[in-house]
Amino acid sequence: MSKHPERVAMVTGASRGIGRTIALKLANDGFAVVVNYAGSAECAASVVAEIEAAGGQARALQADISDAGAVEQLFATTMAAFGRLDVVVNNAGIMKMAPITSDNLDVLDQTLAINLRGSWLVMAKAAEVLAQGGRIIALSSSVLAKSFPGYGAYIASKAGVEGLVKVLANELRGREITVNAVAPGPVATELFFEGKSEEQVAHIAAMAPLERLGQPEEIAGTVAFLAGPDGGWVNAQILRVNGGFA
Ligand code: NDP
Repeated sequence: MSKHPERVAMVTGASRGIGRTIALKLANDGFAVVVNYAGSAECAASVVAEIEAAGGQARALQADISDAGAVEQLFATTMAAFGRLDVVVNNAGIMKMAPITSDNLDVLDQTLAINLRGSWLVMAKAAEVLAQGGRIIALSSSVLAKSFPGYGAYIASKAGVEGLVKVLANELRGREITVNAVAPGPVATELFFEGKSEEQVAHIAAMAPLERLGQPEEIAGTVAFLAGPDGGWVNAQILRVNGGFA
């Protein structure tokens, strides 16, 4: 195993759900992968073990992406371990339901801290350290178009992410670095199922013309396209991957 692999990707929130599947897919595409997580050390270790068992390279690194010092350390450790960074996927995120009321400010603050401030911190460090030809990919959400009650904090945070993506693409002019977002529709993960009844899940699943939930692999495939050679001319875009849930 060479100390410095040819291509290195970081995936935040890669211990579970969509991020886990993105990490496995990018490893399969030949990237050494940094598997970031917040609290699920065992899950992150199992992602690393799965990548290594398939002959790839990976390293689990804990960091709360809303913490500037932790993000600084995450990137410093990545560069020390792998010597370069080519792709950063900011996937980590939370979704908490709360109507827009004065006493739900804590939900707004926590959601903005992780989803928006976290995106800012991760994308800013990515912009600093990415190699020429690098790719930055953020996760937004197709639920922006729905404006469902209770989604205020989440939608505000993801609308902010979409704004950051387009501005950063302009700020990186001349560096050959693309900045895009993938905005999934409802995908079968813990984040989506939590707090929903079977009826609610079935109702939401039936909304898209394809009449089903997405699978993490379908989001990972789009991220891998943006991270790979075929995605090189796609820049400053929000790719809505949602079965037509628009
Ligand atoms: P999950 O809840 O299944 O997984 C979330 C991941 O994010 C976990 O690995 C978790 O780590 C990590 N995480 C949470 N908070 C932090 C933090 N502060 N710092 C670092 N890591 C953190 O979510 P999904 O896989 O469903 O979602 C992934 C992304 O996709 C999110 O940005 C979400 O908003 C977006 N998305 C999801 C949709 C869906 O329907 N599932 C639809 C549209 C968008 P740990 O395990 O350590 O807690």
